[in-house]
Amino acid sequence: MLQTASRVDRNRKLSFAVTPELHEKRKLALKVWNFYDVASVSVTSPKITGSRDIKNVFRSVAYSDSSIKLDRFLSLFNNDFSFLQDYIHDKFWNDLFLELTTSGKAEGDTIVFKDLFEQCHKVMLEQGQVFTPREDGRYNLENLSLSLKYMVQTLCEHKVFLPGFVIKCRHCSSRIRYSIEESKEKFTCKGCSGTNHLRAENPIAYKLNSLVKNNYGSKSAKGIYVPDGNMTAVRTLIHL
Ligand SMILES: [Zn+2]
Repeated sequence: MLQTASRVDRNRKLSFAVTPELHEKRKLALKVWNFYDVASVSVTSPKITGSRDIKNVFRSVAYSDSSIKLDRFLSLFNNDFSFLQDYIHDKFWNDLFLELTTSGKAEGDTIVFKDLFEQCHKVMLEQGQVFTPREDGRYNLENLSLSLKYMVQTLCEHKVFLPGFVIKCRHCSSRIRYSIEESKEKFTCKGCSGTNHLRAENPIAYKLNSLVKNNYGSKSAKGIYVPDGNMTAVRTLIHL
């Protein structure tokens, strides 16, 4: 690459204009394009030597909507496949994500810790895990609770779970989720605009990020759940 008037002819001969300034300097800097720049130009602007036509059919190449969705999903897990595998390959977590994705209930994409703990305990018992009292071994309910709290905390920090509260309105009985940002001592119901107070025993409801739900699947216009192909791609990438 020359920062002066120059050209390369069909026979690949380089010619350039020597300006008085260039002559004064008595130096000529020649910069060779790096491979990736050459490859990029060859793909986006392929041109036959001597031809004036640029066949730029690939110039407007961009990620498809599904690819963007997959890219953002993977970034939730820091693009770390072993981290992702811990959840996707685990029966309890995978079933839970699927359940929160497909649930038809108004607040169906949320779960409180107590339910999460009970579901995990049930799955482990079904898989033959034996729990003992705390003093008799490490597989006890206290340790299960501690490790689940750690995993939920990790998922919250990565925005896979979004903490908030599901409040039942005392005026219209609607059960509506409020994010942490929306949570105050007093709530204005999103349905009837009535005022509610946060109840002391209200547990945190963890909402599954819509990005995770959309990569698992979505409902068609007829209301039928359709699995998303991205999850097949994710499982293949984990396997590789
Ligand atoms: Zn209400």
